[in-house]
Amino acid sequence: MKSDPESELESELKMPSVFVLKPGSIKRDECGRILDARSSVSLIIRGGHKIIVDSGLVGEEGDIRRALEGLKVEPEEVDLLVNTHSHPDHCGNNCLFSMAKVLVPKDGETISPGVRVMATPGHSMDSISVVVEAGLTIVIAGDALPTVGNFLKMVPPALHTDRAMAEASLKKILEIADLVVPGHDFPFYVHKAADVSLPGPIGYDY
Ligand SMILES: [Zn+2]
Repeated sequence: MKSDPESELESELKMPSVFVLKPGSIKRDECGRILDARSSVSLIIRGGHKIIVDSGLVGEEGDIRRALEGLKVEPEEVDLLVNTHSHPDHCGNNCLFSMAKVLVPKDGETISPGVRVMATPGHSMDSISVVVEAGLTIVIAGDALPTVGNFLKMVPPALHTDRAMAEASLKKILEIADLVVPGHDFPFYVHKAADVSLPGPIGYDY
């Protein structure tokens, strides 16, 4: 049977395509000092590519391998890797993906059909978010939006190099996102929780 490439793309855009291999976390002491910070690690499967967004903290290789095993994906099958920024808790296991090309994409760049990059500076000047169109808009935000608390209180990340930029980036993400994968927390819906349903599994139950 002849397939229509356009409807193939359309159905792919509605397919589940983002898997949170490991949600990020952050632990603070009673004075608010950071004791431990580990980034979310996400896998996007789209357009013939397997794309990792952030690779967590050094020492988390086992957790990432186990999550990939659950999806029957070998680390060597990952062909593209993007870090939301260059802080070590987001890049610690880049070397696990030995066959992946490490991308440093620019604002607006399309990585794969339905997967684009949006500059979201402020936490660091090199901070980007990865935007995935999958029936709903999923934004993998890194530390431009590190926790659900930043969303609920509408405050930019406490750690920032430019507060005004960090505020603008937070707004930019929330304007377009249905679902956010934050840098150091579990994914959360932004506003349409009552009238959207997930396109499929997103890697874990929550
Ligand atoms: Zn950071």
